Amino acid sequence: MKKLHTFHLWERPQAGMYKDLLLQEGVACLLKNDQLSSAVGEIPFIECFPELWVIDDEIYPRARLLLDAWLETPVGSTESWICGHCGEESGGQFTVCWSCGKAHEEQGGQTWASGK
Ligand SMILES: [Zn+2]
Repeated sequence: MKKLHTFHLWERPQAGMYKDLLLQEGVACLLKNDQLSSAVGEIPFIECFPELWVIDDEIYPRARLLLDAWLETPVGSTESWICGHCGEESGGQFTVCWSCGKAHEEQGGQTWASGK
């Protein structure tokens, strides 16, 4: 079993969606830490991040390609987002802030060990 991706807490709905999409592609996978984090405070915060795992190592490269493609062009990403730089709201179809031009992905200031 191999970890494919670690999602942010607020990406929980997407995590479930990607799991379903992978299952539809014939990739056996499961979501860890999929419960609502009622236990936050008792276990380290990071433990609660939803993780997508591929059950069969041999199919992992295929799952990797699929997920990378989906993450590049998120499905149904019409939700607006707030720019962390200037605080203006941009539509989900925009990858950079309409106001200050800062890329959405560059914001947040956190780095993730995603599926490595
Ligand atoms: Zn901005």
